[in-house]
Amino acid sequence: MLFITMQKDCGLLIIISGPSGAGKGTIYEQVLKQSPNMRRSVSVTTRDSREGEKEGVHYFFKTKEEFLKMQKKDAFLETATVYTNYYGTPQKEVFDNLEKGHDVIFDIDIEGARQIKAKYEDAVLIFIMPPSFEILKERLINRKTETEESLQRRVGSAKSELGQYELFDYIVFNDTIEKAVNNTLEIISAEKSRIRYNENRIKKLLNIQ
Ligand code: 5GP
Repeated sequence: MLFITMQKDCGLLIIISGPSGAGKGTIYEQVLKQSPNMRRSVSVTTRDSREGEKEGVHYFFKTKEEFLKMQKKDAFLETATVYTNYYGTPQKEVFDNLEKGHDVIFDIDIEGARQIKAKYEDAVLIFIMPPSFEILKERLINRKTETEESLQRRVGSAKSELGQYELFDYIVFNDTIEKAVNNTLEIISAEKSRIRYNENRIKKLLNIQ
């Protein structure tokens, strides 16, 4: 297994995960909007684009053949098959951004979060919990982006996904978006105050080499 280590003053790698319908996508977008130093990790997917999704912003849309070619070239930090589609995180851009001191935020599934934590233990894993299972179901139905079949699949996987919260460093209950976004920003702020992220600055201030 490959372990990745970074310089002390690099950016923070933040993973937002949780079941479909928990609201992680909305929290992710809001946190990004309020954090000028933050960059998104843009995944590659083989699924069709949805209305409003932009190539290179929300995803890189590829065919299965293109995806497999990238995988062969070791281009991914992690990959997952979600339902029948492939998803993967291209790794180069993530670590380039971290090295430049940008925080990088991910919206990925739980399996992807597990794979990244195993390679990069400084990753901060935040699990988004819906207020209740009924509300999660309601949100999926109201989204109207799912076919009946994919809706049933997502509801089916949500329960087992909810049980995997122990892998995560933090939990955020999405009772209201505003509270959940603030809570997530507070977690990020606390993580960035850890000594290990500030050692270079402290040493400079104290004039210690
Ligand atoms: P959607 O198709 O709704 O955009 O995403 C389906 C699921 O795949 C979501 O849980 C999303 O967080 C996850 N996902 C998106 N990109 C990636 C990725 O690169 N890796 C992994 N492991 N999951 C991803």
